[in-house]
Amino acid sequence: YEITYGDWSSDVCSSDLSQEFKRKKIERMYDQNNIFAKILRGEIPCDKIYEDKYTLAFKDINPQAKVHVLVIPKGAYVDMNDFSANAKSEEIEGLIRALGKVAGILGVSASGYRYLGNNGRDGGQEVPHLHFHIFGGEKLGRMIHK
Ligand code: AMP
Repeated sequence: YEITYGDWSSDVCSSDLSQEFKRKKIERMYDQNNIFAKILRGEIPCDKIYEDKYTLAFKDINPQAKVHVLVIPKGAYVDMNDFSANAKSEEIEGLIRALGKVAGILGVSASGYRYLGNNGRDGGQEVPHLHFHIFGGEKLGRMIHK
């Protein structure tokens, strides 16, 4: 998986800002050996729910609700910062459409569900490949625990 980063050094940014963006990019380089990259390469198995050109969905190995599925882009994106800045339009569309399709496959479209993305340190992101969680199959309680 090749990552192409946008050109943050264009003259729309002040040079200080562009240095800051460059530093952040270096901090969050894509790790080709993260667990979801290995799943995408077929090196480790997953319990697949859905796959198309842009996305893969599979059951979470440690479910936190009766239904708990992960939806990931096939492209190498660390997190939402990376994806929103660098993914192609069709990859973004593909991921969002897949979320709705997977909810349908899981049978939770009518009953309701929660899609959630942990991003970075404060978000508690453990796997550095962008993923959405889909939770459902039961009442999910409040949005976040404090
Ligand atoms: P996050 O905290 O959002 O990064 O969540 C990562 C999620 O990936 C957790 O819910 C894990 O249970 C899940 N996970 C880790 N390894 C695997 C795996 N091999 N197959 C399926 N889910 C996994």
